[in-house]
Amino acid sequence: MSKTRNLFQGMEKLCRNLIPNKYALLLVSAFGFNQLSLANPDLLIDLQGEITQGSLMVGKTQPGNSVHLDDRALKVSRHGLFTFGFSRDDEHNYQLKITSGNEELVKSLQPSKREYNIQRVNGIAKKIMNPDPKDIERARQDSKQIGQVRNQEADNIDFAHGFIAPSKGRVTGVYGSQRVYNGKPGNPHYGIDYAGKTGTLVQAPAAGVVTLWVPDMFYSGGTLVIDHGHGVTSTFLHLSGSLVKEGDNVLQGQNVAKIGSTGRSTGPHLDWRVNWFKVRLDPALVLKLPNMQTFK
Ligand SMILES: [Zn+2]
Repeated sequence: MSKTRNLFQGMEKLCRNLIPNKYALLLVSAFGFNQLSLANPDLLIDLQGEITQGSLMVGKTQPGNSVHLDDRALKVSRHGLFTFGFSRDDEHNYQLKITSGNEELVKSLQPSKREYNIQRVNGIAKKIMNPDPKDIERARQDSKQIGQVRNQEADNIDFAHGFIAPSKGRVTGVYGSQRVYNGKPGNPHYGIDYAGKTGTLVQAPAAGVVTLWVPDMFYSGGTLVIDHGHGVTSTFLHLSGSLVKEGDNVLQGQNVAKIGSTGRSTGPHLDWRVNWFKVRLDPALVLKLPNMQTFK
């Protein structure tokens, strides 16, 4: 169930399950920290994730240290775990700052630019929709409700134990892709789409707490949100049913829902989204994160 295969290279791989200081030192030098940081390798023990657009990063420091991304204080668990993510088009140069007493480590992190699949559609007028004002209001309420549960900062640290695909279906849609109609860009696609018949079971990609189940949202139809902690959530769209209810704790791999084609969907499939608060992440990158099994 834990995916520790061929996912990371070089130092990160070496350090994955090795926490002692000499490996932390290797990791720190591999990442090019300043000399000061070498004096205290406990400041940043491990940092996993690709420093690229759409990525979720998971780090570990000594419990009790504080962590900032620019001016934003990140939640640090009692095991020293923290997380943050980069949006699809993020090119900002962040300063990750870890503080212990009067010792401080600062690391610059600038997500690398990615190429997304852009389809240009010319000479075709984009279909003009005249949605009912009632539908517009409904959709507004739906997105408010989803936004609220995505903005919670729960204490659980299930985001740090690795992720598995929620479906065995063929991948039919990827993160970041976008259609441009007569030069006018449409909304990018933010999930992974998996092919699957209506009723096919969906597995929880990581453990967590069910924070939302609504069977009939306007655009996304049957919509389920699982909170993996510290602002990291999974959202599943177009479901035909749920096997769980709000407030339930779920385990990684547990059957939680059924694929469907509810809401504004062109056919049965699973659309899986991952967020860090409002920031929309690439689930394909999240799947590469290792299990940081460093406590218990
Ligand atoms: Zn989709």
